Amino acid sequence: MNFERSKKLWKEAQKYIPGGVNSPVRAFQSVGMDSLFICKGKGSKVYDVDGNEYIDYICSWGPLILGHSNEFIYKDMYEVLQNGTSYGLCTEQEIKLAKLIVQAYPSVDMIRMVNSGTEATMSALRLARGYTKRSKILKFEGCYHGHSDSLLVKSGSGALTFNEPTSSGVSEDAIKNTLVAPYNDIEALEKIFQIYGEELAVVIIEPVSGNMGVVPAKKEFLQKLRELTKHYETVLIFDEVITGFRLSFGGAQEVYGVQPDLTCFGKIIGGGLPVGAYGGKKEIMEMVSPLGTVYQAGTLSGNPLAMHLGYQVLSYLKGHPQVYKYIENMAKKLEEGILETIEEYQIDATVNRLKGMLSLFFTKNKVESFEEVRKCNIKIFSEYFKAMLKEGILLPPSQFEGLFLSYAHSEEDIQKTLEANKKAMLLLK
Ligand code: PMP
Repeated sequence: MNFERSKKLWKEAQKYIPGGVNSPVRAFQSVGMDSLFICKGKGSKVYDVDGNEYIDYICSWGPLILGHSNEFIYKDMYEVLQNGTSYGLCTEQEIKLAKLIVQAYPSVDMIRMVNSGTEATMSALRLARGYTKRSKILKFEGCYHGHSDSLLVKSGSGALTFNEPTSSGVSEDAIKNTLVAPYNDIEALEKIFQIYGEELAVVIIEPVSGNMGVVPAKKEFLQKLRELTKHYETVLIFDEVITGFRLSFGGAQEVYGVQPDLTCFGKIIGGGLPVGAYGGKKEIMEMVSPLGTVYQAGTLSGNPLAMHLGYQVLSYLKGHPQVYKYIENMAKKLEEGILETIEEYQIDATVNRLKGMLSLFFTKNKVESFEEVRKCNIKIFSEYFKAMLKEGILLPPSQFEGLFLSYAHSEEDIQKTLEANKKAMLLLK
């Protein structure tokens, strides 16, 4: 495999862009490689500037549940584009997307569009604090909620990959009200509420964490969290930026049967354009400006192009519920095939899967917490990543990210991936 042109571009990129990347997870340095430069995506595949083809398990880190450049989704884009990309004024497209989300999530009466997942969680926190008139927030180890100051404590994703969960530049003041609890630990949760319950404005959680690899919350844990937040009148936020419209059409809250007060969305609802959103109970959402006193705004929020694309994706998903069964089935095949090879070659590794979300961890232990995730062998993951890439399989370049599947991934893609996995694991033996 030749990476000449990627190498050249990466060198040039580093002159003008910090680390050569506009988001740290795109740096392949954690797996000891230079970044790849991509010039095209179609279906389940991406193509780099050297002409290499890969079966893509990054899928833009989640938005592309229907695969790259899906023709149905794009079909009216040019028409929308011809009328302009943004007016900074109201459009009908905003209502269409908002209505679809509200109808799909019973816990969401009203929704506000923003431009990223980071904006969604940051705004939802402000709203929860405004609503409860309390300051303290609780998050969980290994969960990532974007890069706003008060949430950048013991987070997952790129921050975990680079082993610096707390960013420099975040002031003591910004995080002095942020409490962090271990994920999936009911006892610790009860203790924290006993001490801080009356002061807690909000608890934010990824109901299925995708940012320390895929680690699903235990059902009893989420139920206990709901019970405690209700009792202490603390706002419960589900960060469904990844799980929303991915785990199922109704997200993790539908799968677990636990309803939060506020939900954050991103990724899939923009279909590959920059969109985030936060929504929830009317009583809380009515506190958002201009109705209420919690200020939040955005020049490009709800822009017609992104709203249109998001609407196309969600209406396709709504009309084709088989997408979820299909993706789950693919994920299950991957899980079974990988586990079989792990067993055959006696590799210290395990797979976590919930529905269509899955991760391979290089540890022999069961992975249910951030503590277990941290014990994984990163060096072996790097070897594995490179061996898979050589076979044309593009995995997220980090042990701490899940695989993103799409409706465009075929049986043949899965078979090829499993064959590549076998070769890669043989090298690790
Ligand atoms: N929440 C979760 C659960 C995420 O996975 C991410 C991004 N991966 C974010 C929030 C932040 O979203 P964005 O990158 O769009 O700011």
